[in-house]
Amino acid sequence: MSKRKCKLCKAPFTGRSDKIFCSAQCKADYHNKLKAATLKATFNTDKILHRNRSILLEVMGKNLQQKKVDRDSLAKKNFRFEYMT
Ligand SMILES: [Zn+2]
Repeated sequence: MSKRKCKLCKAPFTGRSDKIFCSAQCKADYHNKLKAATLKATFNTDKILHRNRSILLEVMGKNLQQKKVDRDSLAKKNFRFEYMT
């Protein structure tokens, strides 16, 4: 048994060294929050990917013959290169 600090509410508690929450409630709350945060992150990424696709369609639509789209014109439209799929 050792003194621990709850990962969620920071309350001190004693328990096995692998325990990181003071109670089952804190553990459940923590995982619920984590899940909500992950969902939010996924939602934002989807939004960016969708926006990227719209930008590409817009740019490609204007230049049907042109296979290469220049990077600057994408950047100007806030294209997020790190989210390419
Ligand atoms: Zn707690």
